[in-house]
Amino acid sequence: MIFNYCPICGSKLIIKDSWDEGGVPYCEIDKTMFFDLPKPCVVVAVIKDDKILLLKQSYIFKNSKVLISGYVGIGESVEDTVYREVKEETGIDIENIKYLGSDFVKGKELLMLTYMAKYKSGDINKSSEVEWLDWSHIEDALCEMSEDEVGKRVVRKVLKEMGYDGKKAFRCEGNQCEI
Ligand SMILES: [Zn+2]
Repeated sequence: MIFNYCPICGSKLIIKDSWDEGGVPYCEIDKTMFFDLPKPCVVVAVIKDDKILLLKQSYIFKNSKVLISGYVGIGESVEDTVYREVKEETGIDIENIKYLGSDFVKGKELLMLTYMAKYKSGDINKSSEVEWLDWSHIEDALCEMSEDEVGKRVVRKVLKEMGYDGKKAFRCEGNQCEI
């Protein structure tokens, strides 16, 4: 989030010099600086044996499946968000979460914190927000997620973590995908 107006009083912000940060949006009434804020969200690849949990929400991508994701809430740790989002969207409990690195989506100011997690227990009970949700074979994930670039980077890391040494999972790289 980049602030142009004060979120407290609504005044137009001026740019004020901060000695260590350069020019920062500043409200002269509230005497407060409003630093640019990325929106932190989590992306989670849930793994069960050789399967990965994918979902479909056509408002995100029309023809592509995606990983589970959600915004970090105020008052929770990023790890809390990982467990909560998976539970809310899928009904499933996870364990052994592992951080896989972050990715910034320009234009949306999204800071995506990516994780893999192991399925622990529970049956799929999809939330009403989710159009479609099911396990896919890990070898089909990259093809099925054709439009989701961040998600595909996560899946490539998951394949590495799993010690995957086959070729089938990468058949769509270079547009050889046939599904
Ligand atoms: Zn203000």
